[in-house]
Amino acid sequence: MNKLPCPNCKDLTFTKWQVMKIGKFVNLRCSNCNSKVAVPTFKLVLFSLYSQLTGFFGLIALVSLMPSPFSITAFSIVGLIGYVVGLMPAVFFYINTTELISKSV
Ligand SMILES: [Zn+2]
Repeated sequence: MNKLPCPNCKDLTFTKWQVMKIGKFVNLRCSNCNSKVAVPTFKLVLFSLYSQLTGFFGLIALVSLMPSPFSITAFSIVGLIGYVVGLMPAVFFYINTTELISKSV
């Protein structure tokens, strides 16, 4: 898996999965230079909006393919699968376009 460079020392110290975990209030520290890094706020906002949208479309798409009538249990399961599948492109986009910024103290 590709690694992301530290915005401070340019060392490839962060994995993309670590990027998924940092939010607005969670910071990571570079294992090389120990500086705090974060994800740009607009990126987080964009990702949350985009993932809600694609997740919702995934849900609608799968549910509309179901034979009616269906039970509420089947609806929930299929809806959840659709949501997760719809979420994938958003997650993929996020981890592949996000760059870390150094958090000023
Ligand atoms: Zn560093």
